[in-house]
Amino acid sequence: MKKSVQDIPAIAGGNPTKTVPYGTRTRYGKEELKQLKEVIDKGTLFYVYGNKVKDLERRIAGLTGTEYAVAASSGTSSIHAAMIALGISPGDEIITAPITDMGSLIPILYQGAVPVFADICPHSYTLSPQSVEERITDRTRAVLAIHLWGNACDLAALKAICLRHNLFLIEDCAQAWGCTYKGRSVGAIGNIGCFSMNESKHISCGEGGVTVAGDKDIARRLRLATDKCYDRESGAAFRDPSFLANNYRMSELQAAIALAQLDKLAGIVERRRWWGTELSSRLHDLEGITLPQPTSGCDPTWWFYMLRVKPEKLGCNADEYAAALKAEGLGATAHYIGRCVYEYLVFTRHSAFERSGHPYEKYDYHTGLCPIAEKVLETGVVLPVSEAFTDIDLEETAEAICRVTRWFMGKA
Ligand SMILES: *Cc1c(COP(=O)(O)O)cnc(C)c1O
Repeated sequence: MKKSVQDIPAIAGGNPTKTVPYGTRTRYGKEELKQLKEVIDKGTLFYVYGNKVKDLERRIAGLTGTEYAVAASSGTSSIHAAMIALGISPGDEIITAPITDMGSLIPILYQGAVPVFADICPHSYTLSPQSVEERITDRTRAVLAIHLWGNACDLAALKAICLRHNLFLIEDCAQAWGCTYKGRSVGAIGNIGCFSMNESKHISCGEGGVTVAGDKDIARRLRLATDKCYDRESGAAFRDPSFLANNYRMSELQAAIALAQLDKLAGIVERRRWWGTELSSRLHDLEGITLPQPTSGCDPTWWFYMLRVKPEKLGCNADEYAAALKAEGLGATAHYIGRCVYEYLVFTRHSAFERSGHPYEKYDYHTGLCPIAEKVLETGVVLPVSEAFTDIDLEETAEAICRVTRWFMGKA
């Protein structure tokens, strides 16, 4: 059969599938300005005297169905505050996932604790509970669950493991705003949930973060952990810190923007869910690739869309596949973060600090630690997701992926 022009991908001389640019959106507008004006009118940027940080914390507690929320200056600092609040100390081991942002690891290392990497599930890209359990030693203190791409880890299994072994469960929800697991918000299931509002996340206030918790004493310690361990509730005697904490305070300016952004979250989440679900339904019968698989019980919020190539079927690797999609006009990139975080120099060389002594030096970080995660990155192709993408974007994106996949399959 003679191939029609539509069957020939752009990389082989056909016309690119994408005919119109992807939809864009103005992220910050009059809602943010209105909030900012209220801050300026109030005359203070400090959370203790203002009400924007307090409002934001109340709203995020409500949104996540938790009792308490404590704002922080970034996602990284919210995770660090969680570590401090739970008393994570030098030599403690924290089990976490190898595909994540350094913001998950920096706090562990600063506490003098040891990141221990468990492998992930091959299609949800989140922690394998079985691998987590295998990594537990008598020094393990906590599991830091990474809800990658807006998809929750198997929280029921992780929570059961943590209860069985008397470990804290911390949820890294930086990529998972709006995500639910068995009807509950992520962040509300572990001891502490941590969110980020950096520029790349579902909602942004430039830089910002927040922790949520259900336990009053943990919440009290989270507040201290973001504010130099100054106990402002105690009045005049507040300058007598009893443990080491950083200044991770959020300012009224950040909280003002974040409040305006929170009003937009439901719409953002709805549109991203539509995109992820629809794209998967259009691609599900393609051979040669596998699609991201939401964790059972989870309704993910699609921070990005990562599929995997099967090189043995397609006859091409992730780089060649991503290049073909790019030629069609898609924003595809291969390998997501490139390599597992434990392959970074800071781990392989134990070079966190200039001179030695950090407890993580006894741990040998090397390629091969988490074979499934390494395979996921080797074969992963990431497609951006945006709430601004249109119906035409969806049709053209799906068509381009079908066209390119069938073409490789036909050649192989
Ligand atoms: C973005 C991110 C962080 C860090 O958040 P920042 O606000 O950039 O400090 C931590 N963990 C994950 C999984 C992230 O995606």
